[in-house]
Amino acid sequence: MLGEGILKGLAETARNFLGSYVGKDRLTTVQYPEERLPQIEAARNFPFLVYDGPDWQQGMRCVSCLICEKECPPKCISIEKSKDKKPDATGKPQFYPAVFNIDVSVCMSCQICVEVCPFEAIKMDVEFELSTDDRFGGLLWNKERLARSNEYYRQIHPTEAAAVDAHLAEDRAKLEAKSKAAAEAKSSATAMVSAQPASGVAAEK
Ligand code: SF4
Ligand code: SF4
Repeated sequence: MLGEGILKGLAETARNFLGSYVGKDRLTTVQYPEERLPQIEAARNFPFLVYDGPDWQQGMRCVSCLICEKECPPKCISIEKSKDKKPDATGKPQFYPAVFNIDVSVCMSCQICVEVCPFEAIKMDVEFELSTDDRFGGLLWNKERLARSNEYYRQIHPTEAAAVDAHLAEDRAKLEAKSKAAAEAKSSATAMVSAQPASGVAAEK
């Protein structure tokens, strides 16, 4: 029937309006900021940089590969790659961002930076109370402002963070197994080389 949807909508509105005088479940207005709705896990706003361990500078996962900077549609990420390497949270020497800025006044929360990052280093935050009267400097966030711990990531997106943790643990285990196998192969090759001249000398005698 033509207009059926409109009538249903009006009926629902009337039910909520009249019902709100007798039952709290029909009171749909939230008295923000005193009251807040719980955030859903899939909520997202602007990106942050994940770090592991207690030290945000040492534990930052970003290795300054510049992929997110290239892929960001409105070009609001600017990175300067370090000249040197420093140990990451696992002790492996890595390049790091000497400068990592995001202009959140331009960011459109598309999450493309998150999807293209091969290192699980950038994720979407849920923080939304970010108003400032400093339109330029206040919304240009540097790496210190962007750094958030992996514990924080686990709190705001538990399902996603658990999947990322499992995937990173699997990658680390594979890498460790590979380096162990390479070290074993190298030590057995060294043992064979050092054994050869000794048998040659013995044959000459
Ligand atoms: S969310 Fe989108 S617009 Fe914002 S920094 Fe990432 S890629 Fe750029
Ligand atoms: S956040 Fe990820 S994609 Fe962006 S520079 Fe760092 S490692 Fe590369």
